[in-house]
Amino acid sequence: MQTILRIFRSVSFPVVSRTAIPKSRLHFRTTSACFLSRSHSFTPKRRHDCILPDCVWPSNLPPATEWGYGKIGPDTWPSKYPDAGGKKQSPVDIVTSSVLPKEFDQPLRWKYGSENSTSIVNTGCGWRVDVHGSDSELCGGPLLHTYELVQFHCHWGSSYSCGSEHTIDGKSYAGELHFVHWNKETFPTCADAIPSAEGLSVVAVFLQEGEMNSEIEKLCEVIPSILEKDQRVNLENDINPESLFPSEHSYWTYSGSLTTPPCYESVTWIIFKNPITVSAEQLNCFRQMKNARCDVNSESSGLVEHNYRPPQSLNDRVIFESVC
Ligand SMILES: [Zn+2]
Repeated sequence: MQTILRIFRSVSFPVVSRTAIPKSRLHFRTTSACFLSRSHSFTPKRRHDCILPDCVWPSNLPPATEWGYGKIGPDTWPSKYPDAGGKKQSPVDIVTSSVLPKEFDQPLRWKYGSENSTSIVNTGCGWRVDVHGSDSELCGGPLLHTYELVQFHCHWGSSYSCGSEHTIDGKSYAGELHFVHWNKETFPTCADAIPSAEGLSVVAVFLQEGEMNSEIEKLCEVIPSILEKDQRVNLENDINPESLFPSEHSYWTYSGSLTTPPCYESVTWIIFKNPITVSAEQLNCFRQMKNARCDVNSESSGLVEHNYRPPQSLNDRVIFESVC
């Protein structure tokens, strides 16, 4: 611990660039351990690496400057991140005629606190809301352990007809929210859980273009403040993740992976069948975010116009359908 504290004292934290918005609306967190770079002996697999309470999602996963969705897009990932070429990758196409109905011993259950969504950051490939999830719980259904929410983020496309990562009988939605949970029963930290079997569970919610979503609007209000990579602002308006779930809770579930590098095959996916709606303006708001600019290609505008990985082979996996 002393060593870690010494590192903290000696590191000069990068200053988050500021934009011309009222200072009163911004609360930059320039001293979070989340800003430690990998050059400071900051490995994710030791307990107590994140000694600040608001740093749970590890900072030393491959940054969006090393991979992207253009020239260094999904086809190139396996050469750099071996797990991305594995047999249990995500997303997948859900062929509804092939899913197996399954009655789980326990219903899927969740508990969230609205006050726990702390800040939103531009990752260089989209936005991510970091969460103080210590009093959150996701359990039951296909899960054999209790999981804690750590962050949620979104994937979208350049038009309403694409953007979701999972597809249903080949059909895409305009976007897909991912609520990332880690197995707090088995692992001491999120960083320990991320690469491990049964380490993560991600709840996916499809976004369909339609009515404006008032909860998403809270994010759209601050996204203009984080157009550049690594910009972060605190969220002043409470966001309860549950309010972003569809009202009908039937779901598909299967074993898969993170859909971004390093694509660890550690995820139990729970995918709500029914979408929620967001407006065209809200999707356009997402598309105004600037990317990491390292993913150069001739079509690149420097904006995150799309950030979804296409479906991967299901191989010998089975997708189950919840039966209530
Ligand atoms: Zn995701």
